[in-house]
Amino acid sequence: MYDLIILGSGPAGCTAGIYAVRAGLKTLIIAGSRWGGQPMTTTLVENYPGFPEGVQGPQLMTGMRKQAERLGAEIINSDFTEVDFSIRPLKIFIGEKYFQAKSVIIATGARSIWLDVPGESKLRGKGVSICATCDGFFFRDKNVMVVGGGDNAMEDALILAKIAKSVTVVHRRQEFRASKALQDKVFAEPKISIIWNGELVQYNGETKLDTVNLKLKAQNSKLQFKIKNIDINITMQQFINETMKQFGGGKLIKKERDYIIWQLPIDGVFVA
Ligand SMILES: Cc1cc2nc3c(=O)[nH]c(=O)nc-3n(C[C@H](O)[C@H](O)[C@H](O)COP(=O)(O)OP(=O)(O)OC[C@H]3O[C@@H](n4cnc5c(N)ncnc54)[C@H](O)[C@@H]3O)c2cc1C
Repeated sequence: MYDLIILGSGPAGCTAGIYAVRAGLKTLIIAGSRWGGQPMTTTLVENYPGFPEGVQGPQLMTGMRKQAERLGAEIINSDFTEVDFSIRPLKIFIGEKYFQAKSVIIATGARSIWLDVPGESKLRGKGVSICATCDGFFFRDKNVMVVGGGDNAMEDALILAKIAKSVTVVHRRQEFRASKALQDKVFAEPKISIIWNGELVQYNGETKLDTVNLKLKAQNSKLQFKIKNIDINITMQQFINETMKQFGGGKLIKKERDYIIWQLPIDGVFVA
């Protein structure tokens, strides 16, 4: 029986683990098969204090994990499959096996959904990004393309409009799914232009993004677009559906647009 079980081992899970063991709590971190979370998929993190030259994402997360372990947290790399928060102690299942705890911190984070088109994996971090707040700085005074039509795409386009020379939003449909307020801001921003009914089908470039191929549905034509920087922001639906399944359908989680809303409070269950 643990005082605390933490679900997830990204920055939130590891930080919670470090604080918990230092507070004397017997702590288990269920790290997940993708331990370390999102920073494991990136290169240079420049905004983490204490690293004047920046730090590689995997190096940062290896350090956080080691720190939690050294202080006494137990860590297992499996994915939990189910939870039972209806009785106490709280139960976390990994298949048939389960662990019990007085408290649980959910730190399962988020997952980026990439476009999964040719050239993408090779050019990630080399002009292809999924986070304007993280990478916008590298796009200063450049021409940037944003792919997507939801709230996140609008927010990223607006962030990039403050930094980049120009922003082109490419969307598969004739209208955005984003909230009206965000759409209005995007339409009013002179630096942003929009390509409707366009689908990004390929990235080109060897060591850096050079051009992208767009398929334009309306004209049934293809276009090669010279662009050095792309920000992808498409729907998180698949991730939300998976998360809902793990946490017992709609009892704990409500979907609101592309976000998860936790139906708390439940005694002893927290979200980080
Ligand atoms: C490519 C990229 C670059 C980025 N660059 C920056 C940057 O430069 N600066 C910056 O500030 N932010 C950056 N970010 C954003 C930053 O990584 C996230 O904000 C941060 O990782 C969120 O931390 P988290 O701990 O909440 O969640 P996550 O990092 O998403 O971690 C979630 C954890 O939960 C685990 N998990 C999920 N489901 C289960 C399960 N069933 N069982 C067990 N574990 C599970 C996952 O395996 C993972 O370990 C970047 C993100 C990406 C993808």
